[in-house]
Amino acid sequence: MAAMPFIAGNWKMNGTLSSAKALAADLAARARASTLKLPRIALCPPAPLLAEVTTAIAGSPITLGAQDCHAKEKGAHTGDVSAWLLANMGCKFVIVGHSERRADHGETDSVVKAKAEAALAAGLTPIICVGETEAERNAGKAADVVRAQVAGSLPGQATAANVVIAYEPVWAIGTGRTPTPDDVKAMHAVVRQTYAQGRADSADLAILYGGSVKGSNAATLLAVQGVDGALVGGASLDAVDFWKIIEAAPKR
Ligand code: PEP
Repeated sequence: MAAMPFIAGNWKMNGTLSSAKALAADLAARARASTLKLPRIALCPPAPLLAEVTTAIAGSPITLGAQDCHAKEKGAHTGDVSAWLLANMGCKFVIVGHSERRADHGETDSVVKAKAEAALAAGLTPIICVGETEAERNAGKAADVVRAQVAGSLPGQATAANVVIAYEPVWAIGTGRTPTPDDVKAMHAVVRQTYAQGRADSADLAILYGGSVKGSNAATLLAVQGVDGALVGGASLDAVDFWKIIEAAPKR
């Protein structure tokens, strides 16, 4: 059985109290009024905006997510946020291992795995990001890189019911460039086959595509075999465009 479609918006380091409230309220109103079979939807604002967004989406089917967590429950980690606090704030999801964090903060697969384990322990679903750089793709190493990232970042206790994986080629993030549907299909198959090592529920795993998804290309990307949804950056900051992506999600 394929996973329920899932569209998540990663706001990255964008927004203010007023813009977050307006964007989340706009999307919540669309979701409440929609007669479509909606996918799972999550908004992942910067941590200081979580409370504002949770108020704005109350009573709608939209859920709350965060962009990162620390691996520890609490303690002397200035500036970090624990998965337990995120859960306490109302989050259901947390992105871990985004390529911007791997690049900006030197996060390795083992760091990502520890964060994903913390998320599970706190009752959150980690959205574990993997993806090759342009140089790795040009060198013919995309599949090997992604295989290693999935194997190294997945907690041992991961199941299709408690984790989501996002395949995000680094060269497609924020660039307006996307892989061909055939390349997306091939890389999602690599992710699913790697997850399947020692696991029987790979058909149920939600694997999201991320990288320059917009209203204009969402239908094509979301129709690719093995794609269960999208992790959306830039386009998730525009209610009209993000809603187009939500409407393009597979209906199953
Ligand atoms: C992302 O940040 O996860 C992302 C996919 O960004 P964008 O949609 O802007 O490429």
